[in-house]
Amino acid sequence: MSEGDLGNLRVLLVEDSPDDAELILRALRKGGYKVEYERVDEREALVEALETGNWDLVISDYSMPRLTGLEALNIVQGSGIDLPFIVVSGAIGEDVAVEVMKAGAYDYLMKSNLRRLVPAIQRELREVEERQARRLAEQTLRYRAYHDALTGLPNRWLLADRLAQVVALARRERRMVGLLFIDLDRFKDINDTLGHLVGDQLLRAVAARIVDLLQEGDTLARLTGDDFALVLSDISDPEAAMGLAQKIIEVLKPPFDLLDREVHVTASIGIALFPHHGGDVDSLLRHSEFAMYSAKAQGRKNIQFYTAEAHAAAHERFHIEHDLHQAIEQDGLQLHYQPQVDLNTGAVVGVEALVRWPHPRRGMIPPLKFIPIAEETGLIVPLGDWVFARAFHDYARWQEIGCAPRRLAINLSVRQIRSEETVHSLRRLMERYGVDPRVLEVEITESSLMQNPDEAVKTIAAIRDLGSRIAIDDFGTGYSSLAQLRRLPLDVLKIDRSFTRDIAVDFDDAAIVAAILAMAGNLGLQVVAEGVEQPAQESFLREHGCAFGQGYLFARPVPGEEVVEYLRQGHLQGAR
Ligand code: C2E
Ligand code: CA
Ligand code: CA
Repeated sequence: MSEGDLGNLRVLLVEDSPDDAELILRALRKGGYKVEYERVDEREALVEALETGNWDLVISDYSMPRLTGLEALNIVQGSGIDLPFIVVSGAIGEDVAVEVMKAGAYDYLMKSNLRRLVPAIQRELREVEERQARRLAEQTLRYRAYHDALTGLPNRWLLADRLAQVVALARRERRMVGLLFIDLDRFKDINDTLGHLVGDQLLRAVAARIVDLLQEGDTLARLTGDDFALVLSDISDPEAAMGLAQKIIEVLKPPFDLLDREVHVTASIGIALFPHHGGDVDSLLRHSEFAMYSAKAQGRKNIQFYTAEAHAAAHERFHIEHDLHQAIEQDGLQLHYQPQVDLNTGAVVGVEALVRWPHPRRGMIPPLKFIPIAEETGLIVPLGDWVFARAFHDYARWQEIGCAPRRLAINLSVRQIRSEETVHSLRRLMERYGVDPRVLEVEITESSLMQNPDEAVKTIAAIRDLGSRIAIDDFGTGYSSLAQLRRLPLDVLKIDRSFTRDIAVDFDDAAIVAAILAMAGNLGLQVVAEGVEQPAQESFLREHGCAFGQGYLFARPVPGEEVVEYLRQGHLQGAR
């Protein structure tokens, strides 16, 4: 190897003799290093040089008047810097050499034999490099194992660690700990409609806003998906936890600016306190999650403490979710049909398909209990497909036996309205079963329509392009304005049961229904009144120009085989 090839070397020389130092430096330069150095020969100077300089290695004499090589070694080791320490000495005995090596010196050389110096340094520097690379790799691995890659926040494991520490300390000092379980509302929808890129950015931005609210000692972690957990290590009372939860709700209010889109998001937060709601990491985490579910059930953007009721409800929810999965896969659901009747003639003009779940142990579970869970978990997609397939299958059979009604109404929920897949499914299945799309009437509730009118419009337009019709369901409960209604391409308006119930007795409801009927006439919409139970209601409706009715007065929802009887009859008696 020729001179000057080995690059720079920053050497800290611990050497009392300038001549010996010169000797060493010459050997280094001759060996090919460009050398920068500082020479020290006493304790303070060494300490200072270590603190201020940036060294590649230390070369130290052994016996010096003010410092021994062993002392110098101790000082270097005490500095915490990983520096090779090579002893270059006049003459020391074998025993001393062994002693310095044992104490941690990297190598030992005689001044009379400096030819070994450069190879020794090269070897040591290589080892330092390897050690550092290994340490870096270990650090990275440890970091990765304990952090979430997307947000850089601690992950579930680190959270569990910190929470365990905080709880142990709080137990000793008789203090309170708060655990907040934060779940973003409808995050799946945002991901589905705006894409994962926006979803990812949103998660990062949400994390950043929450982190800004934290105090020293608090830990925010991302658990999975859109679930975050926050450990409040030292709170004086439950109100403190509640206060921070409210701040989180507040800080999420301003819209997020993501890829040129304004995105709004809210959160549901569950709170569990140590020691009141749990004594260990597991139960605190579980209970804060249960509390979060009950916050969601209260209508989202909500905060709830853990309670026994929340616990029971969460348990039920978990079971329902699990069992529903199976029911969908193993054909455990049923479809019932309720006739729709022409109020002027009594003719059965259509049927509405209503899903039923006869649970093997819990008995009949009403749709209002499992549809929302199916919505949240995404199970609504396979469930909806099952409903479509079964309804078209049944309808095809009615066609075969010559009793098919003019209309087949099917309910869509929010998630289905937002997914483009829904329309593809409908088209594909109608083709497979040979059902004319003009028969299909899709019911969408007013409130789900109003949640996101712009997206709903797309789906509605695509369904109408198929040739099918759109009914706005539960009308009167969703606070839509007339102006909004006029913009939507609708065919049918279904007056909610709560209005029908009181029309014959409550003057206000009667006035509202009369107004709805007049308005629908203006907009060219057909009207179906839901929940018609009494002859007086039927009379009122017919007299005010309502064309169609549905309700127990005519028929309850019944299984497919039974509705065939109604269809064959073709007429159902109401008031007359
Ligand atoms: P909905 O679409 O408003 O359905 C009408 C509900 O009113 C049905 O309840 C029906 O059994 C009930 N009903 C009908 N006539 C009367 C009456 O005269 N009096 C009274 N008190 N009730 C009457 P059900 O079957 O429990 O369904 C509840 C809700 O679940 C439905 O409300 C609908 O929103 C949802 N749902 C049912 N099946 C499906 C489905 O396949 N997909 C989706 N997405 N939602 C469904
Ligand atoms: Ca309906
Ligand atoms: Ca309805």
